[in-house]
Amino acid sequence: SADEVLTKRKKYLGPSLFYYYQKPLNIVEGKMQYLFDDTGRRYLDAFAGIVTVSCGHCHPQILNAITEQNKLLQHATTIYLHHAIADFAEALAQKMPGNLKVVYFVNSGSEANELAMMMARLYTGNLGMISLRNAYHGGSSSTIGLTALNTWKYPIPEGEIHHVMNPDPYRGIFGPDAKSYAKDVQDHIDYGTSGRVAGFIAETIQGVGGAVELAPGYLNLVYDIVRKSGGVCIADEVQTGFGRTGSHYWGFETQGVIPDIVTMAKGIGNGLPLGAVVTTPEIASVMNQKIQFNTFGGNPVCSAGGLAVLRVLDQEKRQAHCAEVGSHMLERLRSLMQKHEIIGDVRGRGLMVGVELVTDRKEKTPAKSETAVLFEKLRELGVLVGKGGLHGNVFRIKPPMCFTKDDADFVVDALDYAISKL
Ligand code: PMP
Repeated sequence: SADEVLTKRKKYLGPSLFYYYQKPLNIVEGKMQYLFDDTGRRYLDAFAGIVTVSCGHCHPQILNAITEQNKLLQHATTIYLHHAIADFAEALAQKMPGNLKVVYFVNSGSEANELAMMMARLYTGNLGMISLRNAYHGGSSSTIGLTALNTWKYPIPEGEIHHVMNPDPYRGIFGPDAKSYAKDVQDHIDYGTSGRVAGFIAETIQGVGGAVELAPGYLNLVYDIVRKSGGVCIADEVQTGFGRTGSHYWGFETQGVIPDIVTMAKGIGNGLPLGAVVTTPEIASVMNQKIQFNTFGGNPVCSAGGLAVLRVLDQEKRQAHCAEVGSHMLERLRSLMQKHEIIGDVRGRGLMVGVELVTDRKEKTPAKSETAVLFEKLRELGVLVGKGGLHGNVFRIKPPMCFTKDDADFVVDALDYAISKL
């Protein structure tokens, strides 16, 4: 029962774990866009295990690929040859633009960003890293320094990391003016790093930060500044990759840039512990001195699963589907704004949507307690969404990509009903 699980979890799993909902949900089964609790109740999953279940819970084709590989060989490491990691790397590289052709497999988003940071520093010979305020890049002892939300509190700051102004069109002091935010990057480089940087990292739509899309044109300007200062540009595609934005396969394409290093995790494995870093042969060449090894990275089972994910997303035309269902949902949510004053902003792309709640539209005062009440109400109505943003007042709607228009309508109707009962 939920109570038994909770008791064991409290006793054995440490106080840093937190859970959603006053009465935590005890999930026992998942099927495509649905989750089932221990009472057999079905929920529409609009959060995909934190934007991870890209194709759908227990998608049959992925399940089959993993099961078949499990029967043959589960683990070998890269000291031996195995076709699964090579096939998967080839398929992934084929999805990348430009000269991004060298793949490293790891097990999580934090590990991917650790590796990217290491590459940037080794390749450039500089130390300084720049990340955006309101960013989330991981919870490991190095990436926690790149993460610039007060979500995590770690007493030892990672050195040489600079957090620059967030180009947030809704809350940022320069609105959508990319140029002014880019100037802040130049200022940090000029005054904070003696003019040289190792790298700049950004999500193209901030995930944990509350589905914040960067001001249009921002990455183009900043990539130029960073490269002129000797640095490399890293795109964190942990949440935005694999067609979720609908308009493009990778989030960075929405800003018309090609990064030097791309990191990914979450959706790449549909729930398997899998992450990757893709870079150019030139940058990869500095990693040639036995400087990086990963026991589990790209193990046969994860590689077979990851390859199946890429195939399913293509075969089921999920990118186009995200564009269609996402724009339908965004349109309906925007029309809800006319009815409910509490909705301060609706934003996002494809199936990466944020709904920010405020008590005063002009002041943009976060409706924190109202968001918490609505969050519980949505669960009661059978809809699971995410919560995020610095003030915890943004609903994050990022379902498995098999989500239908009817599902989107169900979420919007539930939100409409919940708000009217507030
Ligand atoms: N980058 C982004 C954009 C993320 O959202 C996350 C996880 N929320 C991470 C990195 C870290 O991933 P992981 O939890 O797999 O280490």
